[in-house]
Amino acid sequence: MRKVGIYYAFWTHEWDVDFLPFISKVPSLGFDQLELNGGTVVGLSPAERRDLKKAAEDENLILSYGIGLQKQYDVSSLETRVREKGLDFMKRMIDAVAEMGGGMIGGTVHSYWPAQMPASLESKQPIWEKSIESMRILAPYAYDRNVQLNVEVLNRFEQFLINDSSEAVEYVSEVDHPGCRILLDTFHMNIEEDSFAEAIRRVGSFLGAFHLGETNRKMPGTGRIPWAEIKEALDDVSFDGPLVMEPFLMKGGTVGRDIGIWREIVKNPDLDELARKSAAFVRENLV
Ligand code: MN
Repeated sequence: MRKVGIYYAFWTHEWDVDFLPFISKVPSLGFDQLELNGGTVVGLSPAERRDLKKAAEDENLILSYGIGLQKQYDVSSLETRVREKGLDFMKRMIDAVAEMGGGMIGGTVHSYWPAQMPASLESKQPIWEKSIESMRILAPYAYDRNVQLNVEVLNRFEQFLINDSSEAVEYVSEVDHPGCRILLDTFHMNIEEDSFAEAIRRVGSFLGAFHLGETNRKMPGTGRIPWAEIKEALDDVSFDGPLVMEPFLMKGGTVGRDIGIWREIVKNPDLDELARKSAAFVRENLV
């Protein structure tokens, strides 16, 4: 059975928040898994991490982690000093996640976010090579600590290194380590892929986790993403990883700004109720 999860930032205006309230809330809304910000976890004390781990265990809730590395921690940087800072930060994150029992870290673990191709470069090849070099260090480091790194395929407006499923397969094949897998996200796929089903089949056994969102990042089940086609393809590749919805409705704060929400997407939303309904939709249509 595929696990159904949600990203905590659906409820928040800032990335750095207290995660504990979400650990008790999310299971009651019908979720098996909660995705947290991996960057925040790095900054917690060992005692705070212990409390989170314990609270999740008590609720029988799986924790996973997302990160869009900041530019200062860009593991694909052409500057050795920046790359080393990035590797150090990622290793601290992997250690923190390992301390909390291991699990998946997905997102821009291979570069930084948001990012545009440097104007001085004609080709992204040099950055690609540095990213692979870093990932060949990070993937085994993570794997040995029961942590899996899922490289997220992001659309062209947010990143430039891996924009579609073909590039992702090429990347992970080059890294060639089981500690590095692929995270597909229907919001990004809608922009870059010719076909949802073909993209999923192309990624196949490399698919580590799957993010759910409508074309405007509203709750899964409320828009025009072809969920039936997606379910069939996930079944075809025997995907057994988590389905984590990543809806964003609220403008304001750093989250609203980073996600690009400049209007009231849903009037006076009852976030808990929307999450509960969408969890039921996902369980019925995608698990
Ligand atoms: Mn995503």
